[in-house]
Amino acid sequence: MSKSYQLAVIGAGPGGLCAATTAASLGMDVVVLDEQASPGGQIYRAVANTPPDRAALLGADYQRGAALVTAFRASGAKYWSNTTIWSLNSHRQIGILRYGQADLIQAERVIIASGAMERPVPFPGWTLPGVMNAGAAQILLKTSGVVPSNGTVIAGIGPLPLLVAWQYLRARVSVKAVLELSPGTNLWRAVPHLPKALRAGNYLSRGLKYTLDLNRGGVPIYYGISSLQAEGKNHLQAVTYGWNHLGFPRKETITTDSLLVHFGVIPRTNLTRAAGCAHIWNRSQQCWRPQVDRWGNTNVPGIAVVGDNAGIGGARSAEHSGRLAALEAARSLGLISSQQRARQGKNDLNWLEKDQGVRPFLEALYRLPNSLLVPTDDETLVCRCEEISAGQIRQTVREGHGDPNQVKFFLRCGMGPCQGRQCAPAVAHIVAAETKRPVSDYTPFRVRPPIRTLSIAQLANLGRLED
Ligand SMILES: Cc1cc2nc3c(=O)[nH]c(=O)nc-3n(C[C@H](O)[C@H](O)[C@H](O)COP(=O)(O)OP(=O)(O)OC[C@H]3O[C@@H](n4cnc5c(N)ncnc54)[C@H](O)[C@@H]3O)c2cc1C
Repeated sequence: MSKSYQLAVIGAGPGGLCAATTAASLGMDVVVLDEQASPGGQIYRAVANTPPDRAALLGADYQRGAALVTAFRASGAKYWSNTTIWSLNSHRQIGILRYGQADLIQAERVIIASGAMERPVPFPGWTLPGVMNAGAAQILLKTSGVVPSNGTVIAGIGPLPLLVAWQYLRARVSVKAVLELSPGTNLWRAVPHLPKALRAGNYLSRGLKYTLDLNRGGVPIYYGISSLQAEGKNHLQAVTYGWNHLGFPRKETITTDSLLVHFGVIPRTNLTRAAGCAHIWNRSQQCWRPQVDRWGNTNVPGIAVVGDNAGIGGARSAEHSGRLAALEAARSLGLISSQQRARQGKNDLNWLEKDQGVRPFLEALYRLPNSLLVPTDDETLVCRCEEISAGQIRQTVREGHGDPNQVKFFLRCGMGPCQGRQCAPAVAHIVAAETKRPVSDYTPFRVRPPIRTLSIAQLANLGRLED
């Protein structure tokens, strides 16, 4: 096993697959590293192994991934599955963990295509067994055909709750209700962006189709929902929520043992931060993202970022940005000229621009209100690993520790096994709300390797990975 490559691609989703396929076709020595058992990333999870009937019910958008995987497999790029990246530094040295053994590999160029994660939003009862992310539930369906058995409630903001409900409908899984939590005012903010969104392809018609199919299938969708709460003693027993009926606030309860929540996706920035890449606050996506140019280049020489990791753009945009970054890698390694890069990248640049046309509409429509970004109930757990509540964080800020990193040192939130992935956004929003400053004023949690759990024994055996 070689330990040095011209190009290492981190992530085998649409962005990484297209980057690697293009790079290999240009003669590069490429390795793709991904912690999953098979290529596809989040949207096309397990697409090459899914039985045909399951692939059919997941829809045409899912099946599209099979062609990307086939092209990738034929490209000659090396593929290391079950490989977790636990560090990346500015010298493009990558810490990997594969079948329990740690090692370091070196690359002349690195393309980070590690995608997005579901935005963690703490709300009362979110840690009860029976409550899980809708995307995680979708992974169970894609990889193993596992679904909730007693009627589920799907709640949140974004296109994914509708998609999961639609896929469940096709799989004959009972969905008791879809609760849409985006405020009604979002619609008015989104309307001005509608003409550009309509030109960007069939994104909106798909949303409409899912809604109509759910209506026909008898799945109720409730709009303008607030105050979501998961209730139960040791596990979820009911979901309560508020809504406005003719100007009068009402509270409703649905009995269920399964609640799937989703509040949009945000870039996974732990690797890009560890590598020292500059990040910027994206106001309309309400998250941090690495700063990249149109070829995916970051400020760190030799490190590029593509796909949802560089800012949420969806699977099609990830494909285009992956190909563009591969062309740039080929140019920087002297395999093609700048003119060839411009010529070969023209189509992708055009498509990328058209594809991004829908984003302002979606971002305005699915903008999270402050009531979700900042947990109002003091008892709500924010850091699940260290069991730190919203009230404790607020108290710590009031005592003078008015910065997310100070809160982290003081309370240990963000120091548990997830290394802040679950609590960092909420801590930053709580601190910002308490100090009455914009969240973009603050430095997010500092990231230090290992960014994924690594045992002392694995670290001690570093570099002894056997062939
Ligand atoms: C849970 C979830 C479900 C989604 N489902 C859909 C859907 O059904 N339809 C849709 O249109 N969009 C969906 N999305 C959005 C979708 O992820 C993207 O639009 C698209 O997949 C982005 O492609 P990408 O190549 O940028 O990244 P991804 O497809 O996310 O691929 C990133 C890959 O990097 C790997 N990776 C990340 N970190 C590491 C690490 N440290 N070590 C090793 N490997 C790592 C991941 O395992 C993954 O395979 C989903 C997002 C999430 C988070």
